[in-house]
Amino acid sequence: MVRDWSFVARIVLAVTVTLGLAGCYEQEPRPRIAGEQHRVLLPPATRLARQHLIGRSVQGKPILVQIAGQGTDTVLIMGAIHGDEPASATLVEQLAAYLQDNPQLLTGQRVLLLPVANPDGYAARTRVNARGIDLNRNFETANRVDNSTNGLRPLTEPESQALQSLIKDYAPSRIVSVHQPLNCIDYDGPGQAIAARMAQESDMEVRKLGAKPGSLGSYTGEILGIPTITLELPLEANTMAEAALWQKYGKALLAAILYPERVP
Ligand SMILES: [Zn+2]
Repeated sequence: MVRDWSFVARIVLAVTVTLGLAGCYEQEPRPRIAGEQHRVLLPPATRLARQHLIGRSVQGKPILVQIAGQGTDTVLIMGAIHGDEPASATLVEQLAAYLQDNPQLLTGQRVLLLPVANPDGYAARTRVNARGIDLNRNFETANRVDNSTNGLRPLTEPESQALQSLIKDYAPSRIVSVHQPLNCIDYDGPGQAIAARMAQESDMEVRKLGAKPGSLGSYTGEILGIPTITLELPLEANTMAEAALWQKYGKALLAAILYPERVP
């Protein structure tokens, strides 16, 4: 009997070790950053987001864009051009994770995800960048006003320069910039239909807030003619858990990406 128990114990030990090792392997956190070579080596379901450095902030922080999907139609989704609107960054990060886990959603589409357009302001929780410039007033537009907050001329800041280069290089067909705290959906340029679809997928209303001088929307929407949507989350989005934030507002972002198709 003693021998029998020893035999059983060895079997149990062997199975436990095998399952344990398998479990460890599967539970290893998936890296969020990967080089181009992974695109070929990994099957689509586990393809990792490609992350690219598009510039550096005044204080030298990296400005990073993740790219999901492949195709000719490009959508730019960005957050935290104002650093004191942290839920905007969280929501874009949630979108990046969702698209990574659901790559089948994107067919012939490439999504540029820029969670933090103003890294210095985001770190300091200030609206402006490290030089006190509002990046969302730093673009070259017809309604531009030069001053010490907007910049004494257009594109004085490395962050706005990086964003303009990204837009010129990738030519997105639509742009969503997530902000806080006005709890509505605004648009510039030919973005009304996309804004309306986003409103259908959320409890927010489309509201024209008026073109702001030197804003990204005034530049990309009015000058370049790219549908540019401003998704204004409410202030209380800052206190929502990440999953709840995604649950409530994620569909609006997916609606903008998949338009004119509906969110499944
Ligand atoms: Zn804002």
